[in-house]
Amino acid sequence: MKVLAIANQKGGVGKTTTAVNLAASLAHLGKRVLLVDLDPQANATMGAGIDKAKLKASVYSLLLGESTIQQTIKTSESGGFDLLPASRDLAGAEVELVEASERETRLKSALAQVKDDCDFVLLDCPPALNLLTLNGLVAADAVMIPMQCEYYALEGLSDLVNTLRRIKQNLNKNIEIEGLLRTMFDPRSTLAQQVSEQLVKHFTSKLYHTVIPRNVRLAEAPSYGRPILAYDKSSKGAQAYLQLATEMLARHNSLDAVPVV
Ligand code: ATP
Ligand code: MG
Repeated sequence: MKVLAIANQKGGVGKTTTAVNLAASLAHLGKRVLLVDLDPQANATMGAGIDKAKLKASVYSLLLGESTIQQTIKTSESGGFDLLPASRDLAGAEVELVEASERETRLKSALAQVKDDCDFVLLDCPPALNLLTLNGLVAADAVMIPMQCEYYALEGLSDLVNTLRRIKQNLNKNIEIEGLLRTMFDPRSTLAQQVSEQLVKHFTSKLYHTVIPRNVRLAEAPSYGRPILAYDKSSKGAQAYLQLATEMLARHNSLDAVPVV
């Protein structure tokens, strides 16, 4: 099982769109995927076709020890993956966990129980470095950072990299940056091209070759409770996320293939 946090404290950069569509793409390629919605906005939950208003258990009850992981898991029919859904009360978990013991490691402990049942766990983190994101980063083996190619993106990135460094020192020594993903890319924008060139220069091997284009179909799909593959498979957005999943799997396979001496 590989646990991948999709994180960036900057809002609206495509974290949730990436989480839902990468989950569906990996599932399409035959992988067993669990998507975890760590954001009280519950956009990933709704985007996977699960009604957040009808939940009996959610990440909130799971983190507070009021439901088991088996009671909390739902299946996204449109996505072909499993989901730990969020609901609005997740915002309160922050406050309620502050006093609790092992407050940063609760998600990690819960996920340990399903480690033989999934190939990939994707964590959709909220746009903040709060206790929910911290639970995600403590549970994660690696972080995927979606970013828009705009001027302030690079500034935000150094904050995130510093945070990850601190987490590596104190809470999760194994965490790595899996990769940086360029999202909502508009090739006609000169600024986007310049920022993209900077990223290539500074982060060479950490940058995914796959670039997610701006594509209106990606923005439409969540209102139908479907990942893009189930909404418009031939769209540029669907093809891009499939390519991302393929690139990710190829990277992992080549790592597995490295002989252990
Ligand atoms: P938040 O920080 O609020 O959680 P986020 O980082 O999860 O936001 P998304 O919700 O995935 O970002 O995307 C923000 C908005 O941009 C959404 O309305 C989404 O539908 C749209 N969007 C995301 N990616 C694309 C894309 N490649 N093309 C067009 N629209 C996109
Ligand atoms: Mg989001």
